[in-house]
Amino acid sequence: MLEQKVAVVTGASRGIGRQIALTLASRGARVIVNYNGSAARAEEVVQKIQEAGGQAEAVQCDVSDFQKAGELMNYVIQTYGRVDILVNNAGITRDGLLMKMSEEDFDAVLNTNLKGAFNCMQHVARQMIRQKGGRIINISSVSGVMGNAGQANYSASKAGVIGLTKAAAREMASRGITVNAVAPGFINTEMTEVLSDSVKEAAVAQIPMKTFGETTDIAEAVAFLASDEARYITGQVLCVDGGMAM
Ligand code: NAP
Repeated sequence: MLEQKVAVVTGASRGIGRQIALTLASRGARVIVNYNGSAARAEEVVQKIQEAGGQAEAVQCDVSDFQKAGELMNYVIQTYGRVDILVNNAGITRDGLLMKMSEEDFDAVLNTNLKGAFNCMQHVARQMIRQKGGRIINISSVSGVMGNAGQANYSASKAGVIGLTKAAAREMASRGITVNAVAPGFINTEMTEVLSDSVKEAAVAQIPMKTFGETTDIAEAVAFLASDEARYITGQVLCVDGGMAM
C-alpha cells in the first residue's frame, strides 16, 4: 500500500497516465495529476480520485520545458514536503518515415519523451536523496526496445529513456532510490486509436497474446514498482506487451 506517499504522474489527464494516477491513489498515495493542455480532463481525474476517498491535485506543466519542470517539482515539494514516487509518463508521437521526417518532428518527440523525463528527474533527485528514498518509474515503449518502422524519433526517445533509467539507477541505488522503466506494447488509448486498421492488424500479428493491452495492465506494473515490496529492483525494463519484445 502507498499511504502517506506523494506521487507525481506526468501526462495523467488521459490514457495510461490517467489510469496510473487512479491506481496509485486507490492504494493510498496523494497524487499530483500533471497535464499539459487538457485541464478539464485532468480535473475529471482528480474528481474521480476524490469521489473514491483519495487525495489528488491537478497541476499544469509542459514537462519538456526544463525551468517549468523545476517549478512543478518545487511546488510539490513546498506544498507536500516530499516526493516519493515520480512516474514519467508524458509522451507524444509524430510518426513518419526517417527520410521524410522533419527536424521539428524529431525534436518535439525527443523534447517531450526523453528530455521531459530528464527534466523531472533532475529536479526531484536532490529531494529524494534528502529523503533517503524514492521510486522513479519511466514509461518507455516496446518501440524503444525493438525499434519500429515509421517511428525513428519515438523509438530513439524511448530507447533513450532506457539509458537514462539505467544511468540514474546506478547513480542513486546506494541512496535507497530505485529507477525502473516500464515498456508497454500496444495499449488501447487515444495514442493507438488513431492507427489505421491495417497498422493495427499488423501490430496484432506481432503480439504473441494476439490482442492490445489495457491501461490497467500498465498501471498495475507501475504500482508494483512504486511499492515497498519492489525495493530491491532497480535499473530494469519491465515489458508489459503481451510477449511482443521477448
Ligand atoms: P495519450 O493518451 O496520448 O496521453 C498522453 C498524455 O501525455 C496526456 O495526458 C498529455 O497531456 C500528456 N502530455 C503530452 N505532452 C506533454 C507535455 N509536454 N507535458 C506534460 N504532459 C504532456 O498517450 P498514452 O497512450 O496514454 O501514452 C502514455 C505514455 O505511454 C507515453 O509516454 C507513451 O509514449 C507510452 N506508450 C504508450 C503506448 C500505447 O500503446 N498507448 C505504448 C507504449 C508506450 P495533455 O492531454 O494535457 O496534453
